[in-house]
Amino acid sequence: MAVVLPEVFAQIPRYPLLYNHSSPIHSLPRTSQRATGTSPRLALFAKREDQSSPLACAGNKYRKLEYIIPDILSASPQHHDHEHAETPTPSPGAATTLVTEGAVQSNHTVQVSALARQLGLNALVLLQKGTGAGFRTARDPDAFLRSGNVQMNRMLGAEVRILDEGDPLSRDARPVLEELRARGQRPYWIPGGASMHALGGLGYARAAMEIAVQEKELRLGGSGRFDYVFVACGSGSTVGGLVAGFKLYEKMRTSSSSTASSSSTTAAATAAPPRQIIGVLNSPTNPKPYHETRVLTFARRAGALIGLDPETDLGAEDVRLDDRFVGTGYGVLDVEAREALETMARTEGMILDPVYTAKVARGMLHWVQQGEVVADARRNGNHSDEVNVLFIHTGGQAALGAYADVV
Ligand SMILES: *Cc1c(COP(=O)(O)O)cnc(C)c1O
Repeated sequence: MAVVLPEVFAQIPRYPLLYNHSSPIHSLPRTSQRATGTSPRLALFAKREDQSSPLACAGNKYRKLEYIIPDILSASPQHHDHEHAETPTPSPGAATTLVTEGAVQSNHTVQVSALARQLGLNALVLLQKGTGAGFRTARDPDAFLRSGNVQMNRMLGAEVRILDEGDPLSRDARPVLEELRARGQRPYWIPGGASMHALGGLGYARAAMEIAVQEKELRLGGSGRFDYVFVACGSGSTVGGLVAGFKLYEKMRTSSSSTASSSSTTAAATAAPPRQIIGVLNSPTNPKPYHETRVLTFARRAGALIGLDPETDLGAEDVRLDDRFVGTGYGVLDVEAREALETMARTEGMILDPVYTAKVARGMLHWVQQGEVVADARRNGNHSDEVNVLFIHTGGQAALGAYADVV
């Protein structure tokens, strides 16, 4: 089954980086089995965004970048400027150099570097020692600076600049863009995680539509859909996009079922409470309300582009973030997250990443094992005999080499 987007959404240009089939969803049989004995039954699945693209180190950033590329390749890019720019820098022509930033072990920068090479462009990445505590707490700081994603960026031929803690460029990279312009290049700035980019939320809005198709193909029990979706919340547009996309899907479905004669499955789905998207925070740097505001902004921004009314269709109640699993620092693998990473490896044969998905798995396992999924489902009026839970694997395993001493 193909992903069918409503007209407004389908018209937004997208340059494919993913395979032309959905990223796989498979069950997590051992984890589901361990969760039995509870009533309702819990059925757990994983969506493999780490297997979504043939490009290097596939992960969630490629989906976001698909919608940004048309602007990158345009003769007059609209969104090439730094987010701090007050007056837009005139756009002198198609980009020659992609510039972005991240922590030392950023997955996002690697995906931007690989994209640049595929488009025949240059890449310059700013890796910040001061973002989070990954570098500061590394047992072997020299190894941390040359292994994992740093190695990937270099292998892809990106210009890698490592910024010390407190370097003013970590707050505002505009001087780097100026420097490139002075060298005759046309830089295109992609904000960290691509979330602040005007088009950054569209990829995961489309992913929600893709998941809705996969729910049908998988013939899920219970409500017939993923009642709970656990996903990392870092810079926030992955969660924000999903929230907007599922809203759009529900809106389309309810408007079509009120006109067409509704089948019994539609009736069952109508009765089920909306899918709960749980964004698991992985950094204690900023408090939960900071992320809630951002995620809602990203959801509304994407929502406005895909045909929702951002103010009436999307509200604070759509954003559910859990900050109990952030651990001791961004980029620091705490004991509990390491246990979750090992559990997933040793029970499901699935390798997670040390910065994001290990913490999401820890959070999801907590919700499952402590009965929180069931209690929350019942509270929401979900009385099925089976509750379906989806874990979104957003990639990032290339960072593991830099965490060799901890894992
Ligand atoms: C960037 C990233 C995330 C977080 O996604 P956001 O959209 O920034 O919230 C999660 N997992 C991995 C592996 C990532 O690289």
